[in-house]
Formats: sequence, structure tokens, C-alpha cells
Amino acid sequence: MKANDIQGINELYGAISGAAGNIIITAHIRPDGDAMGSSLAMMRYIRSIGRQAFIIFPDMYPENLGFMVRPSETGFIISAEDDFGQASELFGDAGLVICLDFNRIAENRCGRLASLVGDFGGPRVLIDHHPGPELERFSLAFSETEISSASELLFSILTGMPGIEGDAGKLPDGAGEALFTGMTTDTNNFANSVFPSTFRMASALLEAGVDRDGILQHLYNEYKENRLRILGKMLEEMTITDDGVAYMIMDRRTIGKFGIMEGETEGFVNLPLSVGKVRLSCFLKEDDGFLRVSLRSKKGVSANRCAAEFFNGGGHEQASGGRLYIPGDIRDISEAAAYVERVTHIFMNRNNGQGI
Ligand code: 5GP
Ligand code: MN
Repeated sequence: MKANDIQGINELYGAISGAAGNIIITAHIRPDGDAMGSSLAMMRYIRSIGRQAFIIFPDMYPENLGFMVRPSETGFIISAEDDFGQASELFGDAGLVICLDFNRIAENRCGRLASLVGDFGGPRVLIDHHPGPELERFSLAFSETEISSASELLFSILTGMPGIEGDAGKLPDGAGEALFTGMTTDTNNFANSVFPSTFRMASALLEAGVDRDGILQHLYNEYKENRLRILGKMLEEMTITDDGVAYMIMDRRTIGKFGIMEGETEGFVNLPLSVGKVRLSCFLKEDDGFLRVSLRSKKGVSANRCAAEFFNGGGHEQASGGRLYIPGDIRDISEAAAYVERVTHIFMNRNNGQGI
């Protein structure tokens, strides 16, 4: 189903307005700006037509995105990791589940919510922009990959709803801001995954009065000093291999020493791509029993395939992620650098160095 499919949009409107119970909105693990922006916009829309909605994230959103949430909304946003009991209860009474910004009902995409979403007996709706969605598990699915973000996809859907009819000025209060924020973070502020439709969305929202300067201020100019300090350290220690692969590894000790919080390393992985010879950038961050891996690539190299084959993950063609298990893939963190060099050497030298 495409975003401009008016029949699909009408079906979604029917499913929301006629839901036999509360509506649950959910998104991927470690919610980012797009997961939050699309979830908040959806909740604001559902409320505006007189229905009740709850957002249940697999785990809590990072502090630096807290500005997106209004104080009156915090009671309607639940982290399943923090309160699985409440999450289960809400699923028990729900009439509709809307899944945003993820493509598979699996533990690595929605954590402990995978069982609640998977076992839910009522209708499930998917609104997502990742390749390879599990369409068969949804009663209604909007899935497009040639689009910047789930927020942009939801923008097309919401502006097609009865009563809004293409006029971004008629979106419910706060929905435009949330969608603009989600699109901005997923495109890295208009640097990647930008399509003609992305500029049309931006233009319509600016015309409707969305305060982009205010959003950018919150997103990019309110970090703590230590974020820049640790970035400096990471860039200084970065390795660039002869295969055109840059990698940086952040261990627990360093994270603790700098007091770095969830969400504060967002964007680090993009920076090595500014070096001409770098075609694939890897950022590894130590977690409990695994290293969290972020991959970014230039056109022609598939970060998605590299993540799927060597890092237990996946994602988009040029922006992907995954995990390196300890023990499992490597014995301890001291082996991470050698692992990355070995597998990326294999990957980048396939098919005449095309990394595909
Ligand atoms: P990030 O590097 O920002 O954490 O993730 C970039 C993209 O990679 C995300 O938008 C998501 O699509 C994908 N991704 C991140 N982690 C995983 C993972 O563990 N599994 C899969 N399948 N995709 C992931
Ligand atoms: Mn997204």
C-alpha cells in the first residue's frame, strides 16, 4: 500500500474511528527521532478525532528527545521495559495496534513488545520505510522505501485523511512539528535519503507555521560539552583501512568516564564518510553482552548487506545497524577491531570492490 493510496487511507480512518477499544501505537527499540515523531503525530491525530491512544515503546526514549513530548502526554507514553505489566494490560484491552518505523515483529526490532504485538488478536497496521517488511502479519500496511522516513510516509497519510484533504495547515496541533522533527533526524538534516516528496513535505509544513529553527535548536544545539569531547577522542582514535572502511569503537569505560547518555552519540557514524576514500563507516558501542553496531555507506556500497551478513542486523541500503555478540562473534571487546577489519575486507573486496 502506497502513502497516496486513498483507499488505504480511508481504510485506516475506518480502523481508527471504529476500533473496538483503545489504540496502541508502537515503534522500534531505542526510539529515535523518526520513531518518536511518527508516534507522537499519530497519537495527536487519533486524539483529534476523539479516540484514545497510547504509545508503548519497547524501551524509553532518550532524554535529548524529551523536548518532543508535551507534559500532558507523558502519562500516555509507556516503556515496556520499565512497565511490562501496564503494557500487557493495555494490549489486553486494545482494539487496534499501529506499528511505526519498523518492518518485522521480532525481538531485535521491538524488544519485549515482540510477543505482545505478535500475539495481539485484533487488527495490526504497519507504516514503515524499511526494505523487506513482514506484510503478511498486518491487516493493513503502508510500506515505501523511496521516502525519507516513517514521518514523511505518515505525513502523506494524515494529509489524505477526511477533513484534512491535502492541507498541512489542518493537521492537528503539534502533529506537523513531530513529523518535521522525525524527517529531519532520519535525513540527518536533509543530508541523506531526501526525495522530491521530502522537500514538498518540508515546504508544506513550513507554510503551515512549523518552527524549524526551534526544532533544529533542540536537536543539534543543546548537547552537553562532553559529547563533543568524546567525539574528538573517537575521531582521533578512528582507524581507516586500505579497503576504505573507517571504524570507531567506544567501550564502557570511556562511556562512563565521559558520562555519555543514550542518544548522545547519534550522528557520530556519519562523520568518517566526509573523508574521500572512506566508503563504509562503522561505529561500535559496548552494551550488555554485545557491541551495538551502526553502519553508514556511500552509494554503491550496501551497509544493509554488510549488517545482515556480518553484524546480525540490517536496515536501509546506506544506513544500517546490528550487534556483535560477546562471547559469540568475538570473545571480548579487544577482538572487535580485528573482527571489523577481517569481515569488511571480505565484504569490500567482493565483486570488484563494489562491496555488494
Ligand atoms: P542506527 O545506526 O541509527 O542505530 O540505525 C540505523 C538504521 O539501521 C535504523 O534506522 C534501522 O533501520 C537499522 N538497524 C539498527 N539496528 C538494527 C538491528 O539490530 N537490526 C536491524 N534489522 N536493523 C537495525
Ligand atoms: Mn525511520
